[in-house]
Formats: sequence, C-alpha cells, structure tokens
Amino acid sequence: MEVYKFGGASVANAVSVKNVAQIIKNSSPTHLLIVVSAMGKITDKLEALVKAYIYGDADAHELLDQVKSFHLAVMHDLFEDPKHPVYNDVANSFVEIEWLLEEEPNDAPDYIYDQIVSIGEIVSTKILTAWLNTSGCPATWVDARNYIRTDNTYKEAKVDWELTEKEIQTKLAPLLEKTIAVTQGFIGSTSENFTTTLGRDGSDYSAALFSAGLNANALTIWKDVPGVLNADPKWFTETEHIPELSYHDAIELTYYGANVIHPKTIKPLQNRNIPLQVRSFIHPDGPGTKITGVKTPLPVPSFIFKVNQVLISIFPKDFSFIIEENLSDIFSIFHKHKVKVNTMLNSAISFSVSVDNDDVKIKALLSNLSELYKVKYNTGLELVTIRYYNQGTIDRVTEQKDILLEVKSRHTCQIVMRNRSGE
Ligand code: ASP
Ligand code: MG
Repeated sequence: MEVYKFGGASVANAVSVKNVAQIIKNSSPTHLLIVVSAMGKITDKLEALVKAYIYGDADAHELLDQVKSFHLAVMHDLFEDPKHPVYNDVANSFVEIEWLLEEEPNDAPDYIYDQIVSIGEIVSTKILTAWLNTSGCPATWVDARNYIRTDNTYKEAKVDWELTEKEIQTKLAPLLEKTIAVTQGFIGSTSENFTTTLGRDGSDYSAALFSAGLNANALTIWKDVPGVLNADPKWFTETEHIPELSYHDAIELTYYGANVIHPKTIKPLQNRNIPLQVRSFIHPDGPGTKITGVKTPLPVPSFIFKVNQVLISIFPKDFSFIIEENLSDIFSIFHKHKVKVNTMLNSAISFSVSVDNDDVKIKALLSNLSELYKVKYNTGLELVTIRYYNQGTIDRVTEQKDILLEVKSRHTCQIVMRNRSGE
C-alpha cells in the first residue's frame, strides 16, 4: 500500500492534471491512495469569498463566479464531451456554496469558512478522478470526511485519531484492495457530519493520517522542488538538496517554518515508521528526499526564513521583574488569540517574542496584553532560523541587517532582524 499526495501547484491547470495522472500511471500501482489539495490558488480565492460573504468587503458572488470559471476552463481542456458527468458533478458541488450565500451570514465565521473552503478539495478530486477514468486508469472518488473524524474546532479541527484509524482500517483498507482511490486532503468531519478543515496547508497532514491508518509502505509527497533543500530558493540563490533526513530533523525544520512539508506530517509517520519521500512532480525521476528513522546528520546547515514578523516586548507596568506568574499569564493570552510564538527570549524585566503579523489576530492580542502590561512592538521584521549553525552562517544571513534579537541553542540559532536603516 502506498499513499501519494499532490498539492495545489501540481494540479494548477489541465496540463498539470495530466502530468499527475501520468505519474500515477507510470508507477503502475496496485494499492494506492491519492490525496489531493485544491487546485492552484483556489483556497486563497475561497478564503476571500468567505471574507466577502461575512464582512461584505467584496462581491462574494463575483468571487464564486471566478472560482467556477477557473474549474470550468480546466474541465474544458480535459473533457471534450460537454455531457461528461464531471460537469454536473462539479456544478453540484458549487451549489452548496450558492445555498449558503443566499442566507444571511450567521455568527459562526469559522464554521462558514469550513463549509465553503472545503469545496476546493471536493472539486479538485472530482476532476482528477474523472480524468484518471477517462484516460484509462480506473480510480474511485472517496470522500475523506467519512474517514478523517474531528472535533468541531472549525478551521483548525483536531483529529480524533482512534475513530479515524478505525474508519480507515475497517472501511477504506478493504476498498483499496479493489481499486486505487482519490481523496481530499485538508478536510474532515465532526461526529454530526459537519465538514471541518485541518488548518491551511493541512493536506500533507491528511496524507500522513491516511498513511498511518493504512500502515502504508511509504508516503510520497509530490512537490515543485526536487526534494527537501537546505533553504527556500525564494530567499536563497544557492541551495543544496538534502537526499536523506531523519524524522527528528524534519520535525525541527518544519516546526521552524521550512514550508516544504506541514509540521504535523511527520509524527503520525514516525509513530508507524513509515518512510516519507518528497519528490518532484516536474522531474519525477529525480532522487527526491527520503525521511526515515535513520539518524543521518544533516550534511549542511539549513536556513529557514520568515518575513513579516512582529517583535513584541512585554514589561510589567511597574517595571518589576518578569516572574513565572507573568509568563504563564502571557502564554495564556497568546493561546487565547491563537498566536504561535516563533521565537522568544526573556530578560529580568521583559519578555520578547516574534510572531507572524496576522493583522486581525495581532491587533486583538496587543490590546489584550496592554491591559496588563506595557507593550512595545516592531513590525516588518525577518526571522531566520539556522539549524546546525556556525559563525560563518550567521554572518552570511545578517549582512546589512540590524539584529533585534538572537537566540541560540546547541543546534539552532534564531535571529530577528531588519534591513540596516538607510539602506
Ligand atoms: N488547499 C489547502 C490550502 O491551500 C490545503 C493544502 O493545500 O494543503 O491550505
Ligand atoms: Mg493548497
């Protein structure tokens, strides 16, 4: 049993859908589950649609039309026959959004979000399944919501692993004996069968859950990069390919923001000792990266960049010391606002953290913190994390930068910085 995961970039248009189908056919699988994300940037579009519907900052119907036309254009390129059932199938999926838009938005924005945004995965999988069947590779469309069972924390649902595993083992495994199947990443459902989503970029995590439940031989995540690199080519001109990686290093790298795989992906695989392969859908014959339990030391230092950081410094109002009680207070405020701390440092009278600058969340967080503490903050910063750092690597990334914060542990160095003023 194998599991393949294809992200949005691998199914961004008709040509790429064909490419994915070719990869599947070339591997001539007998037992294969294919986990797919929404096409291209459709999830962003659907997020905008949700915002438009709830806050009225844009025309939700107009956005829905754009999403529909996008998929229609892809289908036109794939299916010549205008009576192909996929047209109807996809149109029916969008009807769910249309119905929602007819109602006034209720006061559960995260619930609405999940009902709307999940449609991206529903339609991408319908299109890929139809294309596989039309092009001579019989495949069955499977609804992930029958297997990935979650609580009702909409937009960030927590998976009920025991139930999920049971559903996968008793219902999905027997089906996969007979057919290869295509299912959705990113989505699940509550015990009352309401659709949930697992958090942005959650399809990798879905694929890992399916792999663990099926006790697969391997999970392959197909990406637009040749495998795991020591830095994101977006920020770094010279990158190096890492052929083998331990689960441990993979967890560390993704935790700090290496966005090659979602951070939650590794744990379910590690628990079952299932290898994870990261391979390129552009050069499917390339070696990729193999992530396993074997402790291979990272051959090169790795760099992870995060931009748009806010550095928040928190001081007791009376300039007293920061004590454990304050810290526990502060962390519970961060937790309440669902703000993830990227790095932190405390001194005698202050506590500093760097976080992603999500406008809405940070505003609420800062105002909450200010009720109890004196708060200062700087925006527009970069955070770089270097795994297996040395002075040379630090000098390299901080050239022309002003450093606002530097935190080092044995293998990891984190620096919050900005462009040197005047440059
Ligand atoms: N389509 C979802 C997103 O873009 C899930 C995923 O791609 O993993 O966040
Ligand atoms: Mg996506």
